[in-house]
Amino acid sequence: MNIYIPASTLIDYIDCPRKAYLKFILREKPYSANIIQRKYDYIKNEEQLFKYAKNNFKKTEKIFLESDRYLISTSFYLITTFCDKRFPAFIGKHAHLSLYLLAKIVTGLICFEEASAKNIDRCLIFYPPETINLFVVSETEKQMILELLKRMLITFESGIIPNPIDSPRCNYCNLGSVCLKNEIRKIKALHPLVDETGR
Ligand code: SF4
Repeated sequence: MNIYIPASTLIDYIDCPRKAYLKFILREKPYSANIIQRKYDYIKNEEQLFKYAKNNFKKTEKIFLESDRYLISTSFYLITTFCDKRFPAFIGKHAHLSLYLLAKIVTGLICFEEASAKNIDRCLIFYPPETINLFVVSETEKQMILELLKRMLITFESGIIPNPIDSPRCNYCNLGSVCLKNEIRKIKALHPLVDETGR
C-alpha cells in the first residue's frame, strides 16, 4: 500500500526541509493559537470561494486526490462553468504568485491529470472576496515543483534529518522547541565535528 505525502508537506519542505522532516517523518505536531487562527482564516476564505462560485458557476465541489506516480495527496475545489468546462481552483493570498501557491497548484494539477487521464495546465485562482483569475502553469514552473518533490522524497528516504536553516522564518516556526536549532549551534561551536542534524 502506498503512503501518500500531503501537498502541505511539500510547502513545509519549501519553507524548511528540517521542518518537513520533523513533521512528516518524526510526526512532531505542535499546535498553537497562531496555527489555529491561520487554519480558521483559510477555511473562511474557502467558504467565500464556495459562496462566490455557487453564484457564478454551474457547480462547485471539493475533491481529494492522490497521485500514485508522485506519491502525493491533495485537495482543492473543482469548479464547473456554464460551458461545462471544469477547472481546479486555488486560493491566492498575494497579488504575486508565491512558490507555496505554485506548489499547491502543480501538485493539484498532477493529481487531477492522473485521475482524469488528460493533460491539464490551467486552473482558477480565487482572490477573496470575489476575484477569480485563470492561470496557466508553464512547463518550467511544473518541472521546478517536480524537482522539489523529488528532492523531498530523497531527503525522507535518506533517514537523515536535514540541517537547521538560518532564516528569520525560524522566529515564526512552531517547531522551535523540538528543532533544537540553537542548542545544536551552541554545541557545534564548542565541538565543530558534531553533526548538525543533532540526532
Ligand atoms: S526552527 Fe528554523 S530550522 Fe528549525 S524547523 Fe523551524 S524553520 Fe526549520
